[in-house]
Amino acid sequence: MKSIYLLGECMIELMNSSSDTMKQSFAGDVYNSAVYMKRCFPETHVGLVSAVGADTLSDKMRQRFASEDINTDLVFTHQQKVPGIYLIETDETGERSFTYWRSDSAAKKVMQFVDAEVTEQLAGCDMLFFSGISLAVIDEESRPAFWQKVTQLKQAGVKIVFDPNYRARLWKNEQQAQQQFNKAFELSDIALPGVDDFVSLYQIDSSDGVQAFCESFDIAEVIIKNGPASVISVCDGQSQQHVITPVENVVDTTSAGDAFNGVYLGARLNGDSISQAISKASKAAGIVIQHPGAIAPKQAINATLI
Ligand code: ADP
Repeated sequence: MKSIYLLGECMIELMNSSSDTMKQSFAGDVYNSAVYMKRCFPETHVGLVSAVGADTLSDKMRQRFASEDINTDLVFTHQQKVPGIYLIETDETGERSFTYWRSDSAAKKVMQFVDAEVTEQLAGCDMLFFSGISLAVIDEESRPAFWQKVTQLKQAGVKIVFDPNYRARLWKNEQQAQQQFNKAFELSDIALPGVDDFVSLYQIDSSDGVQAFCESFDIAEVIIKNGPASVISVCDGQSQQHVITPVENVVDTTSAGDAFNGVYLGARLNGDSISQAISKASKAAGIVIQHPGAIAPKQAINATLI
């Protein structure tokens, strides 16, 4: 059985449902990817590496992971911390805004739990995925340990996968983000950048520009997402453009990139070619954006649909 672990943070999501009620759910980039990967590739072992608290909402979060058949062996419990939380508000014009309370979350402490035994368990998997959000969330003082473990896992033959997913507000400054991203690109076997990430951090606003940037690193497989415009793959020096069928009825683009990543990696793990994997991933992302919120209903997206 193919096996992947995704390292990062899942948060409690609150969304206005009427003037005095809120709908509560769970979301976070790597968790969203894990959900879509497992739904579309149920034979794959999909596990999260994260930390939650000992509170009741953390218990519910764990139950949600389990209800999606996501492995929780490496979801640790921090006795003093609780999960991060965010609120989505929609104004009269439909414009959404997000407020986060995540600066002291349990997930920031995940590296405290990644000891030699856990590293050995991770060394047995096929892929390790993390994003720029995962990097920003990990406590600053734990970052050297994180890079040491990632290097060790790469040497053990685990494929390292990175999506920059740049969120300016999570970083002290651009230099810090760039320095961490450089390390990630240096170690990546697969990179899944979006053009959007590069606009604000590197002032690069085209897929050609992103491709040129990635070519300065030794990354075997680069998949560049550019919304409905196209997807570009660059593998062994060969670049190819893949056409996306634009969706007419876009409801909410939240987690389009996450769904794409999850299904792409699931397909690659299970032997699909790059073109087949991109076709399945963009189909899945196209379904997700026709539903509100990060996680579309199970019946809307599963293995039979992609
Ligand atoms: P991110 O969410 O990482 O910024 P994108 O906006 O590029 O990523 O979207 C990820 C993927 O979602 C795209 O590669 C594409 O497959 C799909 N997608 C996004 N917007 C649309 C759209 N309007 N129509 C069809 N597919 C879309």
